[in-house]
Amino acid sequence: MPQPREGAGSDPVVPSRPAGTPAGLMDRYGRRATDMRLSLTDKCNLRCTYCMPAEGLEWLAKQAVMSAEEIVRIVRIGVDLLGVRELRLTGGEPLVRADLLDIISALRKAHPQLPISMTTNAVGLDKKAAGLKAAGLSRINVSLDSLHEETFTKLTRRPFLDKVLAGVDAAWAAGLGPVKLNAVLMRGINDAESPSLLAWALDRGYELRFIEQMPLDADHGWTRRNMVTAAEIRELLSVDYVLSADPRDRDGAPAERFEVRRRTPGSADATGPVLGTVGIIASVTEPFCSDCKRTRITAEGKIMSCLFSREEFDLLGLLREGATDQQLAERWQDAMWLKPKAHGMDHVGLDAPDFVQPDRSMSAIGG
Ligand code: SAM
Ligand code: SF4
Repeated sequence: MPQPREGAGSDPVVPSRPAGTPAGLMDRYGRRATDMRLSLTDKCNLRCTYCMPAEGLEWLAKQAVMSAEEIVRIVRIGVDLLGVRELRLTGGEPLVRADLLDIISALRKAHPQLPISMTTNAVGLDKKAAGLKAAGLSRINVSLDSLHEETFTKLTRRPFLDKVLAGVDAAWAAGLGPVKLNAVLMRGINDAESPSLLAWALDRGYELRFIEQMPLDADHGWTRRNMVTAAEIRELLSVDYVLSADPRDRDGAPAERFEVRRRTPGSADATGPVLGTVGIIASVTEPFCSDCKRTRITAEGKIMSCLFSREEFDLLGLLREGATDQQLAERWQDAMWLKPKAHGMDHVGLDAPDFVQPDRSMSAIGG
């Protein structure tokens, strides 16, 4: 069975941050991380082909994963000492965590104003959405790659489309909007479906975002040739729609947003009003590293400054050794100081020996 991680080992040697470095999670290139992605678990009940192998991964032992109390303390350090301004809970699949409501309630109690969102596959969300809202969750992102049962099952290796659709509707009804949908397009599988997926989302007032597939699958099956690029996605959508740049400031967001209007048949022009927006997350072909504001904590409490980081810093281990808040904050700052300038996928041929896919796949990092 494939291993989700290896080689994290002991913490890398840290070049010291110069005296007088501004407070917060600064890096060597002047970026400041304020957006925290925290993974609640490495487990998942789907097996998306671009993320997990069919047989799953070897899950972390329960005691290796951050407890609710540890999560709350780490978030408090991020927010109160290091300038974190928004929190996204992710995984693996966050809904499989039994104490999810307790975690969200405790986070909300500690941070009444903090935007707390969650990325989920929505399996089981229909029964949990109202409780999540009541516990203090602000908003939800749902992964939905296809509206066709057969295609959905092929992509996720589970026949759960109905459950996901019920979950999306329940999230909306519970007030967890704006609901954002994430779709990864796979060539020859669901790419042709992109305009109808957009039509479905626009009809319901959901904001769809297409994500370029990244080389973060546990099977290491990614190829540049097979990846559906942002340019191709715009082309696919342009058959039915005219996209124009959303005038709102992108503000370091991974998605480039477009306003969507219907295309006049047989013409390049748009007709009618703006129907909504669509986002394209072009991590590979149009990377946004220079504006990145993200800091990541894996389910076992490792700091990752970038999805493609090959260096990890053990925050949970230090916490369990009895470190003070100040010591934990300093380790976090040291880790972020080393954030790479860019992930390098855009200009390095991935078949070349100098691009090394990270040991962790997406579910083991927290996407
Ligand atoms: N299980 C939840 C879900 O699927 O929404 C949360 C975790 S999942 C790892 C977070 C996001 O990562 C999902 O939107 C998923 O589509 C995306 N993702 C996973 N593997 C990816 C890959 N290789 N390239 C691009 N996005 C990926
Ligand atoms: Fe699970 Fe999300 Fe990965 Fe799909 S993308 S296998 S739902 S963690």
